[in-house]
Amino acid sequence: MNAKLTVDGSLCRGTALCVALAPKVFRLNASGEGFPVVRLLRQPDIASVEAIVDCCPNGAIALEMENE
Ligand code: SF4
Repeated sequence: MNAKLTVDGSLCRGTALCVALAPKVFRLNASGEGFPVVRLLRQPDIASVEAIVDCCPNGAIALEMENE
């Protein structure tokens, strides 16, 4: 199973919390919005990023499970 990782820039408030928790997965763009460096995840990365999805104070991060 794969999971597609996205950040909705219109919801992001640039807290950088996602970057602090997973700097290899998230970065801030020039506008100060979080974006995923890695867009397609596999286990065990899915489980660790799921916890970060819940930490985003604005619900801007989404993980969409995909069947292979
Ligand atoms: S944690 Fe959420 S609000 Fe903060 S930078 Fe990341 S996506 Fe944006």
